[in-house]
Amino acid sequence: MRHTKIFSEWMKRAAALLLCLCMALSLAACGENRKVTREIYAMDTVMTLTAYGSNADAGLDAAESVIFAMEAMLDPELPTSTVYAINHADGSSVVVSAQIARMLTTAKTVYDQSGGALDPTVYPLVKRWGFVDQKYYKPSEAEIAEDLSRLCFDQMTLTSFPSSGSYSLTIPAYGQLSFGAVAKGSAAENAIDAMRQAGVQSGIISLGGNVQTLGLKPDGSLWKVAIQDPENPDGYVGVISVGETAVVTSGPYQRNFVIKGVVYHHIINPATGHPSGSSLRSVTIVCEDGTMADCLSTAMFVLGETKALNYWRQYGGFEMILITNDDRIVLTSGLLEDFTLSPDAGKYHVVYSE
Ligand code: AMP
Ligand code: MG
Repeated sequence: MRHTKIFSEWMKRAAALLLCLCMALSLAACGENRKVTREIYAMDTVMTLTAYGSNADAGLDAAESVIFAMEAMLDPELPTSTVYAINHADGSSVVVSAQIARMLTTAKTVYDQSGGALDPTVYPLVKRWGFVDQKYYKPSEAEIAEDLSRLCFDQMTLTSFPSSGSYSLTIPAYGQLSFGAVAKGSAAENAIDAMRQAGVQSGIISLGGNVQTLGLKPDGSLWKVAIQDPENPDGYVGVISVGETAVVTSGPYQRNFVIKGVVYHHIINPATGHPSGSSLRSVTIVCEDGTMADCLSTAMFVLGETKALNYWRQYGGFEMILITNDDRIVLTSGLLEDFTLSPDAGKYHVVYSE
């Protein structure tokens, strides 16, 4: 009798424990799958930030403040920004953050390896063509020559002071730079780091053409990133499946103006001072390093298909999707298994490159 009572007491406790456990597990599962999305406007772009899990709100707060802080630091036309200070320093040195130092070093690597296809000191030309204030303008050859004489990225001096963790930068007085080709990739990377530090394990952010992911989707599956059809803002030519990485696209369709039927776009070839004539409609870079991905997307667009593929063969460390003017989607071999052509891809066909 006494044994039966003890047994039934034990059963009750076990059942209660099981119930608590189930509730805790389902709450945890619910927490981990909780999805929070936020849309912000920064760096002239609509940005969508998504985080999963119980720390999602804190993660998005952190990501958002990183992006706004970077915008305030990098806007070349904002008198309080570091880039403004660099461009108005008359040849003296300016203290810059570790983030700017990293952007400069990565940009310099790509500048050197691409023969100057990416050059942040092309800024006077970007401004001249009207891409800064949207007062679009076709400059004269004399104006272009004048701005080309201000290219000076190979003359910058970046000094590191390890004891204080600070850096200083000097560029010639006649030069001006901007991080237009690098800022979004770098902001995405730093925003993802901020989310991670806030305890988020799964998230994705899209800053214009720049996507960066954190971990995997909450169910452990890969992220699917759509590759936009350069000729149709509402369409996409395919989808790539990726883990934790950056996916960055550059193309003339992202910003341009038309005069007398001629399209002038925002990616300037530093060799000519004109919008880059390219064999490509867009370049998408897949690379774990978001800053590098953004530097490469611009540089590979300027280089065009053949030189871009040679660059990839020689230096590696990234994969690429090139959409060519003759309707091919050229994938580097690392994406062989990861790309799915959209049913709406129409005239496009896929080609793999070794
Ligand atoms: P992205 O969209 O990353 O290809 O960067 C294009 C932006 O970078 C332009 O809107 C300009 O602000 C700037 N830019 C244009 N051409 C170049 C270039 N060749 N090198 C560096 N920055 C550039
Ligand atoms: Mg870029």
